[in-house]
Amino acid sequence: MLRALLSATVALASVHPLSAQPSRISAPITDIRYEITADSSAVGRGQLGVSMSFHVSGTSPVVLAIPAWSPGHYVLLWFARRMSQLSVESNGTQLAWKKLDYQTWEIIPRSAGTVRVSFKYLADAVDRAVAWTAPNFAFFNGTNLFLYPVGRGFNWPAQVSIHTEPAWRIATGMDPAPGTNNFTASNYHDLTDMPFYVGRFAIDSTQIAGKWIRLAFYPAASLTTARRDRTFGWLGKIFPAHIAVFGEAPFRNYTVFQRSDTLVNGGGLEHQSSQIDEVITSGLDANYLPNLYSHEAFHAWNVKRLRPADMVPYRYDDAQPTTWLWVSEGVTDYYGALALVRGGIDDSTAFFSFIADEIASIAGAPPTAVSDASLSPWISPTDGSGGLYYPKGGFIGFLLDIMIRDATNNRSSLDNVMRTLYNESYKRGKGFTGADWWREVSRAAGGKPFAEFARRYVDGREPLPSDSVLRLAGLESRSDTTREPRLGISTATDSAGVLVTGVTPGGAASAAGLRAGDRVVSIGDVAITNDDSFAAFRSRYAGTTLTALPLLIRRGSQSITLQLPVRLFTRVQTRVSPITGAPEKAVRIRIGILNGSTS
Ligand SMILES: [Zn+2]
Repeated sequence: MLRALLSATVALASVHPLSAQPSRISAPITDIRYEITADSSAVGRGQLGVSMSFHVSGTSPVVLAIPAWSPGHYVLLWFARRMSQLSVESNGTQLAWKKLDYQTWEIIPRSAGTVRVSFKYLADAVDRAVAWTAPNFAFFNGTNLFLYPVGRGFNWPAQVSIHTEPAWRIATGMDPAPGTNNFTASNYHDLTDMPFYVGRFAIDSTQIAGKWIRLAFYPAASLTTARRDRTFGWLGKIFPAHIAVFGEAPFRNYTVFQRSDTLVNGGGLEHQSSQIDEVITSGLDANYLPNLYSHEAFHAWNVKRLRPADMVPYRYDDAQPTTWLWVSEGVTDYYGALALVRGGIDDSTAFFSFIADEIASIAGAPPTAVSDASLSPWISPTDGSGGLYYPKGGFIGFLLDIMIRDATNNRSSLDNVMRTLYNESYKRGKGFTGADWWREVSRAAGGKPFAEFARRYVDGREPLPSDSVLRLAGLESRSDTTREPRLGISTATDSAGVLVTGVTPGGAASAAGLRAGDRVVSIGDVAITNDDSFAAFRSRYAGTTLTALPLLIRRGSQSITLQLPVRLFTRVQTRVSPITGAPEKAVRIRIGILNGSTS
């Protein structure tokens, strides 16, 4: 309700400039500089000190705003909520200011000269889009800290200076500027898309495809020699596969920022010349890491540069939904997995199982148009379609790739679509439209029309023509549906058995009265001795008509039997595999997809 009122105010102010509403257009400001204080005193309090200075030529109001979200992380986080102690001064005198809304400030200069706006920023978030600190470390995205003048566009240069301990390091994709710890960007989009690591962390670099690729890992001890070698080995296969799709690497250097902790959510966020990944400490050697790095790296082309027109240019004050997130995220997922098999990190079996997981995810979600699902991350839907643009977008990308190759006898592919759109839209300073996408898909497929495919399977909710299209690449999928019981707990196994570390509110185990700290001994007639025992339990009671089972636990020194209500959930298991004796053309298409070639 509040947001609706505010947008009405914006519209009125621009339509009726003489109305009583304050102007939302800032007076011009020049010589914009930001100073960030990330020394041990500031980060010890979980804060960053922020100061913005600029020049004004008169007394017209300056209107400044802070972003509401970080591009790539499609959720409104309202960075203004972490600001405090805002003050404004010019020539040693405090200036009056007021808020125009929760993230916009109006300042009235008293004369021409330099104005300085200072505030503290609470940097204690566990979220890759938001600043966080440790006693010897700080991380931030520019969207968190950098105020911008409202209504003045984003094509203005700025300088950033970091105040930190002499022995601490700084890593960022921004260009260095003269002086110590100074950096520069030529426009606000670049300024806010170059995250910073400041403090004690490990850094190492190597050259891949003629570009410097850096690892910046926190904590420093997480970058062991073995992990450095292995990670550079993966990146040395991933980047060439991505470059082969687009024909160039558009960044001067690229940084993989990684934070590991026992508390992080896990996942990555892309930037134009970097990615910031959160990895749970126990997952530092997990086998999903190449896929994470590959997905985020592909974004350096797809979404950071080749982007739906709905998101060109970025706006920072409010949500910016697009029906094309399935291309930006789902097709990125597809190429993220393809680079692993094309680079030789994974074999074809792993790629087919990635595709099978996508099919299973689509089957497990309510029928949802992928263009509708693309709009939804802003509202975190509860109907089971949240994030569906990843698997469904990725699988549609795979189907389009097969259909393009089939229509051209494997002479063209989805790679041609991506490369042409990159050249024809991004390189001409534009975003791509739906018409651009389908025109290039059709052109790559030798003129084959895709209007009906788009209507039924992308903008519509019809089941995808999986079987008939997979067959064109000599592949088939098989799905088995089971109904199996779920507990709603997380566990850890140690020498004393299986310890409950978390209980999902509302789940079956919660209803039975199980608590974190309990040890599970048996469920029904299945002994629980390690994490694998739960698979035995699920398969033992799959499809059962029982309504409750005895749940034997140890709580401290006591043995207790709880009554576990049986709650069955649908589980779809899908396999994708090559068809034996598939026609030569289908085999050629399948091989072409796996090794990135056309014939
Ligand atoms: Zn992504």
